[in-house]
This record gives sequence, C-alpha cells and structure tokens, in this order.
Amino acid sequence: MDLFEYQAKELFEKHGVPSSKGRVTDTADGARQIAEEIGKPVMVKAQVKVGGRGKAGGVKFANNADEAFEHAQNILGLDIKGHVVKKLLIAEAKDIAEEYYISFLLDRTNRTYLAMCSVEGGMEIEEVAATKPERLAKVPVDAVKGVDVAFARSIAEQGHLPAEVLDAAAVTIAKLWEVFVKEDTLLVEVNPLVRTPDDQILALDGKVTLDGNADFRQPGHEEFEDKDATDPLELKAKANDLNYVKLDGQVGVIGNGAGLVMSTLDVVAYAGEKHGGVKPANFLDIGGGASAEVMAAGLDVILGDEQVKSVFVNVFGGITACDAVANGIVGALKVLDDAAASSGHSAGSAPGKPLVVRLDGNKVDEGRKILEDAAHPLVTLAQTMDEGADKAAELASK
Ligand code: GDP
Ligand code: MN
Repeated sequence: MDLFEYQAKELFEKHGVPSSKGRVTDTADGARQIAEEIGKPVMVKAQVKVGGRGKAGGVKFANNADEAFEHAQNILGLDIKGHVVKKLLIAEAKDIAEEYYISFLLDRTNRTYLAMCSVEGGMEIEEVAATKPERLAKVPVDAVKGVDVAFARSIAEQGHLPAEVLDAAAVTIAKLWEVFVKEDTLLVEVNPLVRTPDDQILALDGKVTLDGNADFRQPGHEEFEDKDATDPLELKAKANDLNYVKLDGQVGVIGNGAGLVMSTLDVVAYAGEKHGGVKPANFLDIGGGASAEVMAAGLDVILGDEQVKSVFVNVFGGITACDAVANGIVGALKVLDDAAASSGHSAGSAPGKPLVVRLDGNKVDEGRKILEDAAHPLVTLAQTMDEGADKAAELASK
C-alpha cells in the first residue's frame, strides 16, 4: 500500500527523521487555521498518491494564512494525473539551500536491497538516471548488516553530497533505513532531502510503500488505509479474508484457488461472446475453505455488486471436499434467504439472481446430490466448466 506524504511523515517522525512541522486538512478554512497556528510561511501541499505534484500546481508557498487559504481553495478539487485532491498538508516552509535524493527499495532483479542517493534532488529521479547517471549512486544493502551511520555516510558520499553535510545526512539516512526495516516497507523515498542554509538535513517530501504481507505484525498500519478510495465491496471482502476484484461485466465469478479462478474468467469471457458480449463482473477467490460462512460472505459480496446478473460458482474439491462446498452453498443460500425474509421479502427470493454451480474433484457425487436434494429454484448444476460458463453467460444476457 502506498502512503500519502503526510502519513509517510508520521512514520518519519516516529523514527526521528527530521522534517517540517505540519498538519493535514480537507478544507481551505482548515488550511488558514493551521497556517495561523504555525505562524510562519507555509507550504500548501496536495495529498495525492502520485508524484510530480509540484509541477502540476499542487504544491504552493504561502507567506501567511490568507495566502494559504487562497492556495488551498485552488488546490482542493484539482485533478493531478487522475487523482482528485481531497486533502492538503500544511507544513512550515523551510529555506532550501540544496535538494538531494535518497531512497531505499527492494531490488528484485539482484535479490537485494538497494540505496539510491544523488546530489541532484528535486527533479524526477528517472530524469537524473537518464541524463546524469554518474550523479546517481546505486548501493546494494545487505539485509543482515543493514545501514548504520558509517555505511549511511558512505552512501551519501557516493551520491556526491558535499562534505559539509555528510555527517548530518548520514544520521538522517540511517534513520530512514530504520523506517524501511521497522515499518516493513518496500520503498522509502525522500525527494527532496533538503539542505537548509544552516546545514540541517530535512526530509521535505516522503513516499513510502508498505508491504501488505507484513500487515499481521503491523497493527498500527491499519489506520493508513484510504477507506474513501476503496470499493466498499472490496473492504467487505477483505474483512472476511476473501480476495475480491471488481471487473466490468455481468457474470459474478466465485472459485477456489487463483489458478482456477483465472481460467474461469477466461472461459466465461469466451462463452460470453456467444451471448452478446457478456463478461465477468468480478472474481472472488474463496481459497481453501468453503464453509457455509465463507460461501455466504462470498455470495454476499458478489451479489452486492449491482452489475452482477448471474453468478458462476466453480469449485474443484481438494482438501475441502465437494460435499462440504455443497453444504456451504446450501447453508449460504439459507443465510441469505433468512436475511431477505427478515427484511420483508418472500422466502426463496434470495439470492435474487441465478446461480450456476459446477463442482468437480473430491466427493463430487456427494456434493451434487446435496445440491439436487436442496433443489433451490435459482440454482442450476453444470457438469463441466465450459457448460457452466455458457449457462451463466446466457442467464446474464437475459
Ligand atoms: P512533488 O512535486 O510531488 O515531488 O512534491 P514535493 O513535496 O517534492 O515538492 C515539490 C517542490 O516544492 C520541492 O522540490 C521543493 O522545491 C518545493 N518545496 C517543498 N517543500 C518546500 C519548503 O518547505 N520550502 C521551500 N522553499 N520549497 C519547498
Ligand atoms: Mn518530491
């Protein structure tokens, strides 16, 4: 997950990386108030998860609170490369003598971590890499040894930072490595890393990408999630540990295992060509378990997507056998039916959309029998994946 600049700076502050004081707001009045509190010139900075905000007019200097108010009015609602500005960081404006670049990242190609450092900061690093590659140091970092102050100093030196600031830069760079490691990130980038006229080194911008695989041991990171920007159905799926992805078509797809789900998408899209160009509406991987609860949660998410006209459940019984999956489906339909009934709908009306189910693998006969016996009016059984996809596409085209 990419963080907003203000969130990256919260992590910087936590680990003692010097920056500039500031607060975030979503109104121009708020911007005025924060600028008044700071009582000095401020930067008004668009908070969007994309670079080049400065060039796009999303970063402005304000001498006083009135100017901050004016800039805030102009920047809020601005579209920067497809990202609409909803929040602003109002931060004390620092005097800048020089702008540098520093980042830590995972270098997958070379199977190592990498520090990149350059005296040429402020501009896009791709440009430095293209035009002045000799000014950009790329220093591999041993994951076990990490970056202490001495090594950080050598990184700064290789990036051609001037001798007078090497000591201060080394301390800041070592702390940024601490952010990189302790916060389980994939990227920490500071551009510009600034030298002030009195030779302080400050991180005036910050880009941090958190490694979602470490969420389980980073409970504090949950608050960084941008709930406004996330599809409510994706949030619901995530809350139930389901992998859900929204697409544009009409057939909801539920399967177990990423490989099967992917091929189901292809088969549905292929079958859909015969039915007026019907396509998958989404896909949901219920993973290994297919209990009634998991299936109910999955169906609830898929059916919550208004674009869905039919649902194709394609499950290959492995460790979780088909009878358990079938019981899961029957149980899920009952859960949904009960919920519909308690909100005044007639029994049997949920899920409200036709379901095509194809089961195969471990205990397939038992599984099919359970569904046949349940004889839910909206459920059709398919013998093969192709047949199921065709049926689901046909139902969605009606
Ligand atoms: P970006 O364009 O999205 O990378 O946004 P930045 O946060 O890097 O800001 C863009 C530019 O604004 C920087 O390269 C600086 O030149 C300038 N800037 C940012 N903060 C300050 C500040 O505190 N004082 C001054 N004078 N300029 C700043
Ligand atoms: Mn920047």
